[in-house]
Amino acid sequence: MEPGGTRRGADHNVMREVNRSLVLAVVKEGGRISRASIARATTLAKPTVSAIVDELIAEGLVREVGTGTTAVSGGRPPILLEFNASSHLVAGVHIGARRTTVAVGDATGAEVRRVRLDTPRGDPTATLKRIADQVRETAEVDGARLSAVGVVLPGLTDFHRGVCLLAPNLGWRDVAVGATLGDALGIPVYVHNAGQAAAVAENVEGVGDNAGELALLYAGTGLSAGVLSGGRVFHGAGGTAGEIGHCRVPGGTEPCNCGNAGCLETVASGPAMVRAVRRAIAAGRPSLLAGRRDLDASHVAAAARDGDTVAAAAIDEVGQYLGLAASWVVNAYNPAMLVLGGGLAAMGDLLLPPLREAFDASVLGPALRGVELRVSTLGDDAETRGAVLLALQHSETYYRVVFR
Ligand SMILES: [Zn+2]
Repeated sequence: MEPGGTRRGADHNVMREVNRSLVLAVVKEGGRISRASIARATTLAKPTVSAIVDELIAEGLVREVGTGTTAVSGGRPPILLEFNASSHLVAGVHIGARRTTVAVGDATGAEVRRVRLDTPRGDPTATLKRIADQVRETAEVDGARLSAVGVVLPGLTDFHRGVCLLAPNLGWRDVAVGATLGDALGIPVYVHNAGQAAAVAENVEGVGDNAGELALLYAGTGLSAGVLSGGRVFHGAGGTAGEIGHCRVPGGTEPCNCGNAGCLETVASGPAMVRAVRRAIAAGRPSLLAGRRDLDASHVAAAARDGDTVAAAAIDEVGQYLGLAASWVVNAYNPAMLVLGGGLAAMGDLLLPPLREAFDASVLGPALRGVELRVSTLGDDAETRGAVLLALQHSETYYRVVFR
C-alpha cells in the first residue's frame, strides 16, 4: 500500500475508535437511552450510531431493555439501551509490604468481590504466580470475563515496561510484574506505584471531586507524587514521573533507600518523623516517647495529641518539608488540587497547618497559592480502588473528545 493509503487507513481506525468511545460514554452515563438520543448527544449521524450500537450489543457491552414512550408524532416507540455493567470484570491488586488485596469490579468499577491475603514471601516470580491464582479464583463470578488487571506496588515502577524497579519493603528489584502476571492470566496487566493509584482513586471517588488536574503527595515510609492530567496518570518517558522523594535537599546527609543520601523522603516521611523524635530525646528533651523502641509515625501522632512537645515539633518539621515538596509539585505541574495521601494522611489534621505554611511561603506567586490543599478521605482503600479504576481506565479506549 502506498504511504498515503496507510495514513488514511490509520485515521479511519482512530475515528472509529473515537466515535465508539463517544457512544459508549453516552450510554454509560445517560442511563436508559435511545439510538436517536445518542445521535443527538454525540452529534454523530444516525446510521453511524446504529452501526456502533449493533457492534456494542454483539460484544455484550450494551443491551436493549424494552421500549420508551413515543415522544413525537405517534411514531414507533424507540428501543432503549443501557450499559451492561456485568459484561466484563476488571481486577485491582494492591501488593503491600505485609498484606495483598485483590478486588474484582464490574465494568463500571463497582466492586463485586474482595479478598485479602498475607503477601507471599520469597522469590518474586513465585509470589506473582500465587497472586495470579488468587486473581483467577476471586474473578470467578458467574462466568463473567476478566478483561484487565491493575497492579499497584509500594516502590518505583516503570509503567511502560510493567516492571517494578525497586521496592525495598518487598525486597524486589527489576521484577517483570506485568509480563509474569500477563503470561499467567492471558490478559493485559497495568503496573503503577501506590501514589499514582491513590491519585486516581481520590480524583474519582475521594476528595478530588473529579478535578482531573490533580496531584497527590503520597507520604508514608517514603514519598512520591501521583500526578494526573485530564484524570490520567502522567508517566513520563521512562514511566517513573513523580518520584519527587528522591530529589536531593541541599545539606541533607541521611542515607536513602535509593542509594543516594539527603533525598527529600529522608526528611519528609514517617521514618523521618521518628528520627526527629529520637534526635530530640537523645539531646535530653523530655518526651512521652522516651525509652519506646518500636516507634512509628502513629505513636508520634498520638503523643502529639496528648500534648507532647517533642512529638509536635517532629510533626511540624516533617509538615514543613511536605509543604516544600507540595510547592515543587505545584510549581512544576500546576494542578487544581493537591491531596496529601499515603500512611501519613491519617494524621493529616496535624500535618496540614505546617504543610500549608511552608507551601504558602515557597510556592510561585499568588496564582498558585490558591491551589486547594486537601487530605485523602479514602484512607488505606485508596491503593486498591486505584488499582481497579486503573484497570478499567486502561482497558477502555477512553477518549474524552468533544466535537463542537
Ligand atoms: Zn533517594
